Amino acid sequence: MSSYFCFMNIDVLIIGQGISGTFLSYYLQNEGKSFLVIDNNYSRSPSKIAAGIINPVTGRRLVTVWMVEDIMPFAWKAYQAIGHALGINAISQKSIIDFFPNPFMRESFLQKIETGDQYVHAYPEQNHFNNFFNYELGCGEIRPVYTAHLETLLPAWRSHLLKDNFLWEEDFEISHLKVEAEKIYYNDIVAEKIIFCDGTSSFDNPFFKRLPFAPNKGEALVVEIPGLPSQHIYKKNMLLTPLQEAGANLFWIGASYIWDFDNANPTEAFRESTEQALRQWLKIPFTIVEHRSGLRPATLERRPFVGFHPLHPSIGILNGMGTKGCSLAPFFAKQLTDNLVYQLPIAKDADVNRFAKILAR
Ligand SMILES: Cc1cc2nc3c(=O)[nH]c(=O)nc-3n(C[C@H](O)[C@H](O)[C@H](O)COP(=O)(O)OP(=O)(O)OC[C@H]3O[C@@H](n4cnc5c(N)ncnc54)[C@H](O)[C@@H]3O)c2cc1C
Repeated sequence: MSSYFCFMNIDVLIIGQGISGTFLSYYLQNEGKSFLVIDNNYSRSPSKIAAGIINPVTGRRLVTVWMVEDIMPFAWKAYQAIGHALGINAISQKSIIDFFPNPFMRESFLQKIETGDQYVHAYPEQNHFNNFFNYELGCGEIRPVYTAHLETLLPAWRSHLLKDNFLWEEDFEISHLKVEAEKIYYNDIVAEKIIFCDGTSSFDNPFFKRLPFAPNKGEALVVEIPGLPSQHIYKKNMLLTPLQEAGANLFWIGASYIWDFDNANPTEAFRESTEQALRQWLKIPFTIVEHRSGLRPATLERRPFVGFHPLHPSIGILNGMGTKGCSLAPFFAKQLTDNLVYQLPIAKDADVNRFAKILAR
């Protein structure tokens, strides 16, 4: 960063250090770009709540996720690389042990195996989990699956940025933003671009609020389960995922997907129903230690918003990660960086310019 008169001149001002802003700043730094991140450290941001699961299949019918063959291997390498740079473990490989909750789901799983699906497998040792779980209808295995350790990665990247004064912990006030075609001004900052990675705050952003966002509420519990092996994620309607803290026996269980809600607060109903389901499923004792709740920056057509505003080329967005920020954010942060630095294209389904007409209104 260089100062010019009393201004701070930078290439890019990034708003938000969730998983999107983390990877965007990481790739911009790798390209030698100057940047500043402004982040208010909101405690309920989805990046602080997520389990970090990167799963190749989704839903009751185990449909292969969008762009899986590009996005999964990319995510694995990206988390390993940023983890290496920070001296932390940012990702682990797991498999999901899928305990069939009803005959329909069992049938669906078995049919998928018969198609030769590369991610859905039989689990030969059907009695292997008898000491830990009740599962009358058997189980199968989904692999590979990754868990991104956001609880370690986000604070580590934040400390890295703070050390060099590349992150300011404060609220971004959009009323202080002045936009020109080639530059933006924010208080005493002058930047060539501003890029919004601010999750649900973009819903009120005058430049992007017309995008078809569809906020979705999610809740999860953190539970302590002494003795439960941590090399798997366990699934029976909900996902029970090991958190990284070594030896802490901590697992994340969730999540709910609620489209109709009054606020982002945790609800007693979720806590009670999840505790009851866990009591029926688990054979060993557990203790609830935390209840998390937040809003996912989801979109109506379940695709992210990536790129620069059609009328204001100095304003960009990396958002709309929905239920899949852990896998999508590294991939699209890299595409956005390559677009900015080398004018490479952004995938059509993700490029925010697919809404050029709406944004031009
Ligand atoms: C319960 C739950 C479970 C989930 N589990 C998974 C999972 O297992 N796998 C997966 O891939 N995804 C999961 N998700 C989805 C995932 O969490 C999101 O897709 C992802 O975190 C979005 O990241 P983001 O960086 O785009 O936005 P955010 O996480 O919302 O980050 C935005 C950042 O901007 C900051 N900010 C916002 N406004 C301002 C402002 N005005 N000034 C300054 N700073 C600001 C916030 O403090 C925050 O740090 C889950 C979500 C929930 C709610």
